[in-house]
Amino acid sequence: MFKRVPGTKDILPGEVEAWQKLETLSRNIFSTHNYREIRPPLIEDASLFNRSLGESTEIVQKQMFLIKKEEDVYALRPEGTASIVRAYIENNLDKTHGFVKLFYMGPMFRMERPQKGRLRQFHHIGCEALGSVEPDLDIEMISLADSLLKAYAIGGYTIVINSLGCAEDKLALNRMLQEKLSSRTGELCEDCKVRFQRNILRILDCKHEQCRAIVNSLDIRDKYLCEACKAHFTYVREGLDLLGVACEVSPHLVRGLDYYTRTVFEIKHGQLGPQQDALGAGGRYDTLVKQLGGPDTGAIGFAFGVERLLLAAQAADGAESRQPAGGNLVYLIALGAVARKQGMNILANLRSSGIAADTDYEAKSLKAAMRKANDLNARWVVLLGDNELQEKVAAVKDMRNSTQEKVNLSGLSGYFKGKINEAGTV
Ligand code: AMP
Repeated sequence: MFKRVPGTKDILPGEVEAWQKLETLSRNIFSTHNYREIRPPLIEDASLFNRSLGESTEIVQKQMFLIKKEEDVYALRPEGTASIVRAYIENNLDKTHGFVKLFYMGPMFRMERPQKGRLRQFHHIGCEALGSVEPDLDIEMISLADSLLKAYAIGGYTIVINSLGCAEDKLALNRMLQEKLSSRTGELCEDCKVRFQRNILRILDCKHEQCRAIVNSLDIRDKYLCEACKAHFTYVREGLDLLGVACEVSPHLVRGLDYYTRTVFEIKHGQLGPQQDALGAGGRYDTLVKQLGGPDTGAIGFAFGVERLLLAAQAADGAESRQPAGGNLVYLIALGAVARKQGMNILANLRSSGIAADTDYEAKSLKAAMRKANDLNARWVVLLGDNELQEKVAAVKDMRNSTQEKVNLSGLSGYFKGKINEAGTV
C-alpha cells in the first residue's frame, strides 16, 4: 500500500469545509480592503528564491524541494512573495498598475522535520501590496492581519512588531552584532555558531535559553536605525495605536529572510507550542522589487499558515470540528430498472435547476439506501418505484421531520426550490 509523503496531508471531506470557510472569510476581508487574487505557478526557477530569500537562509540552504532537468533547476515554491514580485515585474504590473494589492492562497513546500504545525506541504493565505513606501500601508497591512484573525474568530494571539531599518541600517545592525558577539561565540548554541558566520541576525530570535539570555543582555533596541527609519516606525506604531490594534514591540524579531527591511511583524499564538508558535508573519521588502529587476519601489506583505490557523481555531472550539455534508441534498432512491432510467432524468433536471441531488450507485436495498441517505445527511429522499411511475409522482420524504408527501414528477424542481426558499430551511 502506498503512503503519503511524510509531512503532507490528505484534507478529507469533513475537514475541507473548515478550509473553505477560512478561504471564504479571507476572500471577503481581502475584497473589503480592495485586494485582488493572483495565482502564480507552484514551480519557479530555483535561482529566484536563492536571490530573493538569500543564499545563507535556512530555506535555501536546507529546505527547498529541487527538480533538476538537464541544465535547469526548478524549485517547488517555499513561499509566495518572491513569485509575486517576479510576476509583478514580468507582467509589467508596475507599468500598467503601479501600486497593486494582491492576495493568494495555496500550498508551499519546505523540507522540514515534520511535526504538529510543521509540514513539508503546508498552505499560506497571504497578501502583498507593491508600489509604495508609505507607512500608512504598513498600518493597513497589520490591521488587515488583525481583521482576518477576528473574522476567523481566533483569539489569544499577539502581534509582535519591529523595524529592521533600511539596507544601511541592517548592515549597521550586522556590524553591531558582530562586535558584541565576537567574544561570546563559545556561549552560543551550535546553530547560532553557524548563524554567526552566515546569518547573524537570526541569532536575535533563537529560541535556545542561553542564546536568549545573551541576546537580552545586548541592549540593541533601535540603536541601529537611521532617523528616517525611526520616524517611519514611530508613525506605524502610532497609527496602529489609533486603530486600536494591540502590538508588542520586540527588538528581537528579525524574520529569517534576507529581503525584509523596515517594519517586520509576526503573529504568535500561545497554544501552538514554542517551536511553531507563529500563526503568520510578514513585513516590508523595499529593496526586493529592484533587486529582481523591477523599479525602485517599496512593498509589504504577510502570510498566515492555514494549518496553524486551523489548530488555533480548534484550540478555541475545544475540538476538531468535522462537518457533515448534506445541507439541502435531495437523495433519489429509484427502485427497478425503469425507475432508475427515469431517475437519471429527474437528477439532471434537479441539478440544472441548481438543486444538489444524488442517487445510489451501489444497487442497495431500499433499507440500505435509506441508511446511506441518512449518512449523507440528505435533507429529502425522493422515492420512485413502479406505483409512483404509473401515477407520474414521486414520494418525497422530509428527513428532518419524517413526513412524506406525493409530488408530481414534472413539479419536483419547483417543489424543492420553494422549500429551499422557505424561511428557516438551510
Ligand atoms: P514564513 O514564510 O516562514 O514567515 O511563514 C509564514 C507562516 O507560514 C508561519 O507563521 C507559519 O504559520 C506558516 N508556516 C511556515 N512554515 C510552515 C511549515 N513548515 N508547516 C506549517 N506551517 C508553516
